[in-house]
Amino acid sequence: MSLSLSAEQPAVPDVADDGVWLECIECGETFAPFDDVRYTCDECGGLLEVRYADLPTFDDFEGHGVWRYAAALPFEAGVSIQEGATPLYEVPRLEDEIGIEALRIKHEGMNPTGSFKDRGMTVGVQVAKELGVGRLACASTGNTSAALAAYGTRGDMETLVLLPAGKVAAGKIAQASLHDARILEVDGNFDACLDIVQELAAKGEVYLLNSLNPFRLEGQKTIGLEILEGFLTDYDTVPDRIVLPVGNAGNTSALYKAFRELVQAGELDEDDVPKLTGVQADGAAPMVEAIENDADEVRRWDDVETRATAIRIGNPVNAPKAIPGIRETGGTAVAVSDEEITDAQRALAREGIGVEPASAASVAGLRKLRASGVVDDDERVACLTTGHLLKDPDAAAAAGGDPEPVPADTDDILEHLQQ
Ligand SMILES: *Cc1c(COP(=O)(O)O)cnc(C)c1O
Ligand SMILES: [Zn+2]
Repeated sequence: MSLSLSAEQPAVPDVADDGVWLECIECGETFAPFDDVRYTCDECGGLLEVRYADLPTFDDFEGHGVWRYAAALPFEAGVSIQEGATPLYEVPRLEDEIGIEALRIKHEGMNPTGSFKDRGMTVGVQVAKELGVGRLACASTGNTSAALAAYGTRGDMETLVLLPAGKVAAGKIAQASLHDARILEVDGNFDACLDIVQELAAKGEVYLLNSLNPFRLEGQKTIGLEILEGFLTDYDTVPDRIVLPVGNAGNTSALYKAFRELVQAGELDEDDVPKLTGVQADGAAPMVEAIENDADEVRRWDDVETRATAIRIGNPVNAPKAIPGIRETGGTAVAVSDEEITDAQRALAREGIGVEPASAASVAGLRKLRASGVVDDDERVACLTTGHLLKDPDAAAAAGGDPEPVPADTDDILEHLQQ
């Protein structure tokens, strides 16, 4: 199977352009990368992956941010706003409380628009330029639209975003709006928005930049590469496990692909690949259901609900790439309640790290898996926090304490502070 960790590097097909091509993960059909607009396989409808004649080695990486990893990407540079190079925070109190050897927080909220989506867009919008398309579009729970709007306008292209009405956090809509996207609020959930934008893309109206687009996942691979380099520098070893929130499972797929390519290049031992561990909210957990049932396909959940709106997704489009990633690395998937998510959001905040609810799912999931003994106390773990606290100011305010009204008088305030 093409997605196994021990897969051989395939022969370079005639359609390759400068050593880059697209390959269907289901039937193996290959396609030229930049001749036509294509998101899925013409033959069987399967998901596509970007493949390279030359695989990256650690020695190839130089520079800063996403484009440090150009050797693992289809271009030398893209439409950039200095994305990537996010912090890998130490969290000593949380590490003690959870009871593991080492815990680091890879805070993707520190990207230009406040989420990891920027890493995908710097590559995806560059592909749009290569293809010469006019209008870019996405369906979004919020962060994809913020990133697409910023990178689209930076690349001098029009952007259209479809959002589920009433279900997108305030900061994200504000970003899409100010960065000049045309915003359509759809009377339906995220999955309905994605169905529609896929139809618009099929009619040639827009270029689709959801994570179904294989080039976006190339940019997101760099999260995994940064985590590996950070652990190698600080601990002289790669992490045992990476825990991450799962919505459409793009990141899970991207990290797995990054590690698979390093294994194929002989840069990483198959047994050392970090265990990919996905976390969903109880009210939107189709991937967890599939992993628990050992199923190859995900059952679409039509009714999803969680205050972690960024992962309020019932039909994870990248599941066929992500499920092998979780299985082959010996990882797992777990669901957590909204209360557990908010508790984890507060615990991160106590360490000075401000994240939006979906991001905190990773820490909530790790806590749960450590408590149940699935995660051992001798593990070194990286948790991914995907978006910044200010993305969802309402959720942050609700999770924090209330302001106390006082008169504008020092003596009254001193008296108030005694209470
Ligand atoms: C997009 C997003 C996710 C989900 O990521 P997938 O790659 O779709 O699984 C999680 N958290 C935040 C904050 C996001 O913006
Ligand atoms: Zn196919």
